[in-house]
Amino acid sequence: MKSIRIKILTGYLVVILILSAVAVWGIYNFQSLAGAINEIMVENYRSIKASENMVESLERQDSALLLLLRGPTEKGQEIFRRNEKEFYTSLARAEDNITIEGEADILLSIDEKYYKFITSFDSFYYGSESEKWQVYNQTLLPLFIEIKEDIRNLRELNREAMVKAQENANAQANQAMISTALVSIAAVIFVLLIGFYLTRQIISPINELKIGIKKVADRNFQQKVKVDSEDEIGQLADSFNDMINKLQEYEKINIKKLVIEKEKSEAIVNNVSGPIIVTDKDNFIVLLNQAARDLFSITKEDLNKHFLEIIPNEQLFEFVQNPEATEDKVIAVDDKDKRFHYKVSTNQITEEDEDYQFTVTLLEDVTRLKEIDNMKSEFVSTVSHEFRTPLTSMNMSLNMVLSGDTGDLNEEQEELLAAAYEDVERLTDLVNDLLDLSKIESGKIEMDFEKTDIKHVITKTVKPFQKQADDNNIKIDLEELEDNLFARADANKISWVISNLVGNALRYSPSGSEIKIGADIKGQKILVYVEDNGSGIPKEYQNKIFDKFVRAGNDLDDSGGTGLGLAISKEIINAHHGRIWLESEEGKGSKFTFYLPRYGY
Ligand code: ADP
Repeated sequence: MKSIRIKILTGYLVVILILSAVAVWGIYNFQSLAGAINEIMVENYRSIKASENMVESLERQDSALLLLLRGPTEKGQEIFRRNEKEFYTSLARAEDNITIEGEADILLSIDEKYYKFITSFDSFYYGSESEKWQVYNQTLLPLFIEIKEDIRNLRELNREAMVKAQENANAQANQAMISTALVSIAAVIFVLLIGFYLTRQIISPINELKIGIKKVADRNFQQKVKVDSEDEIGQLADSFNDMINKLQEYEKINIKKLVIEKEKSEAIVNNVSGPIIVTDKDNFIVLLNQAARDLFSITKEDLNKHFLEIIPNEQLFEFVQNPEATEDKVIAVDDKDKRFHYKVSTNQITEEDEDYQFTVTLLEDVTRLKEIDNMKSEFVSTVSHEFRTPLTSMNMSLNMVLSGDTGDLNEEQEELLAAAYEDVERLTDLVNDLLDLSKIESGKIEMDFEKTDIKHVITKTVKPFQKQADDNNIKIDLEELEDNLFARADANKISWVISNLVGNALRYSPSGSEIKIGADIKGQKILVYVEDNGSGIPKEYQNKIFDKFVRAGNDLDDSGGTGLGLAISKEIINAHHGRIWLESEEGKGSKFTFYLPRYGY
């Protein structure tokens, strides 16, 4: 069968045929039953009626005989003859309707006896009175009784036949009932079997197809669907198998392409001279190039393990975990007797479904630059140092001259000297900052780490700025701080950092704006932030804002600032093993955040 439609139609046709057969069988049974009942009614009714008529005629004849016994009358003879005719009519009717065995014999006997009865009537009718009585008593009356007895037998025979026929009809009805029931049951079973067979024929290929589709959905392209039927589902299965073939080919090509791409990127990664580390979103290492292995002395093929398990460098891990951080990320790695410096750049690759998220970390050897930087710092430090003494004496001299200790000055002289004094002051600030920075950088400034209440430090540091803020109509919003903000820190240095950040925020915020200062505990760290909605820092400066002498050129007043404040802050925070970073949008504001280790952690 080639199509589901034909299968279903065939199913219906078979059911209709079976139902018709059952109906025909039922009609046939009911008809034969009706026929049987009809036969009994008609045949036996006629015979019984004829018998009754015969008895009636005979009895009337007997009455006529009794009448004639009393005296010969015309009427008696007439009654006798009329009923004789009627008797014969009834007898003929009964003889016409012989249906039962023995009925014919009885009728023959009635016929013979009645003939005798009729023939004896003449000798009765024409005989003398005594002869009449004799004939009546000896012939006619006995014959009358015998004939009546025969008729009674005839009726009994018919009655019995009727009972028998009724029993027959009952039996036939029962049989019809049983056979109709059996035929119906057989039909129902047959219809069920056909239905079951047909549905199986239709459903089982659909199930096969369903399993096949599920496998393909699970990316199993090996299994084909086996459907033998040639109907629509068979055709569908063929198309489905074609599709699987194409998918198989497609997957083969794809895998090949992927392998090539993978080999290509591995070759590139391995050929890059700088170390590369790729981690997934759970910070498991998924790719390492040779340079990275050499740098961290990784000998085993140790992929798919946690970063720190393979590379126990907390500082680098910190950068890997925060790929978006914009600060300058440099780590130091000691190898044999030399210290190497690496600039870390991290890049996050996120796939659309976010299940695949990788961080690519590139390390760039900046040891040489660092050395030059150190030399530069040393040079700056020396120069600054050399500057300090002459600057102090210039400062003092100018101060004395300006305060009139050396005699009066004319207006022009005073103006020129005041300008020189201002420049000397600024230069002194710069030199002091430079000296501070180089001291911290070279570790010459000792940090006095102890249990420090950051809440206290912040409150104390922010207080002196209140007046400046009020003057500039800027609101300082110091968040509600917790009581247990204890860090392991040098309170004075942290106060310096906070005051630098708040000072900057005030300097770069317009009148009417707001500065938010807060602190919080984050796991093993204390987080401090200063947020303003001032001018913000352009994107191109954000990376290097913590470098020396970097100024974003967004100053509202051009008076102060050496471009060293953030560099010193960063050095201080680094010396605390903390981290400082910036989030800023030009025109909207800046948020400087740093963290310090919590005391006791
Ligand atoms: P400076 O002494 O010039 O303030 P810093 O190192 O403290 O030096 O700051 C460097 C530069 O960063 C500033 O010149 C300024 O351009 C920018 N900057 C610092 N803080 C802010 C801030 N809160 N809003 C906008 N710009 C800022």
